[in-house]
Amino acid sequence: MFKLTFLGTGTSQGVPIIGCHCEVCASADPRDSRLRTSALLSAHGLNILFDIGPDFRQQMLRTGTTRIDAILVTHAHRDHVAGLDDVRPLNYFQHGSIPVYLNQQAAHTLQHDYRYIFSPHQYPGLPEVDLHVVNSSFLIPHSSLEVLPIHALHKDLPILGYRVGEMAYITDANYLPPSELAKLLGLKLLVINALRHEKHWSHYSLPEALDIIAQLRPERAYLTHISHELGTHAAVQPSLPEGVFLAYDNLQVTI
Ligand SMILES: [Zn+2]
Ligand SMILES: [Zn+2]
Ligand SMILES: [Zn+2]
Repeated sequence: MFKLTFLGTGTSQGVPIIGCHCEVCASADPRDSRLRTSALLSAHGLNILFDIGPDFRQQMLRTGTTRIDAILVTHAHRDHVAGLDDVRPLNYFQHGSIPVYLNQQAAHTLQHDYRYIFSPHQYPGLPEVDLHVVNSSFLIPHSSLEVLPIHALHKDLPILGYRVGEMAYITDANYLPPSELAKLLGLKLLVINALRHEKHWSHYSLPEALDIIAQLRPERAYLTHISHELGTHAAVQPSLPEGVFLAYDNLQVTI
C-alpha cells in the first residue's frame, strides 16, 4: 500500500500570508491554512519525502515522523529546500546520512547556497546528506522501489517531478513536454501544482493543471502549491471535475 501525506500545500509564502487579511488568509477552515509544499510517501516500509522546505521541522513534528529514508527534491527554490539544516536530528537517530535525489541544477544551487554542509572542511554537527543527481529511473537504497524522474520546466528552470509506481508528484511546473507526459499515463494518483485561476509566468494555473489532468486521466488528481489567490477550499472544491481535489495539509490518500 502507498500512503501519501500532504505535509504542506501552499505556495512559497504559505497561507495565510503574513499581513494579509483576505477571505482565504482570514479563513477559520483548517483546509485554508497551508504550509510550504511537501509530501511524505510511505511505501514498502520506507518514508520518502518530496522536498524539504522551510516548514520541514514543523511538518515532522506535526506528523510524528521519526525516519526519512530518501528525499526527492523537485528544485532548489527556498520554499522547497530551506529545511535542509533540520535533518540533523534524523541523522542522529538514524545513525547516518540521508540520500537526496535531484537534478544537476538543484545540486549546484544546494552546493552553493549551503556551502557549509558540503565544504571539504566539515566540522561535527552538520546536516548529513548525500546528493545523487538523477536523470533516469533509480532504486531507493535497500529496496525494490523504483523512482522515475519526470523532466519539467518551471519557466526556464529545469525541475523534476517523480513517478513512483502508480503515483506521481509534480510541483512548480508550468510545462511538461510530450515525452514526459507519456511517462504519466496510467496513474492512480497524480499530484500537480495549481497556483491560482489566472495564468502565471512560472507555475501552472488551475485551468492549465486541469488541462493536463484531462490529458492524463489519472484515477484521482490532487492539486497543490496553492496561493491565497485561488479562493477558499469550500468555494473552489465544488467547481472541480470529478476525481479532482484540492489537497490540504495533513490530508492522507492511499493507493
Ligand atoms: Zn515553490
Ligand atoms: Zn491572503
Ligand atoms: Zn519554485
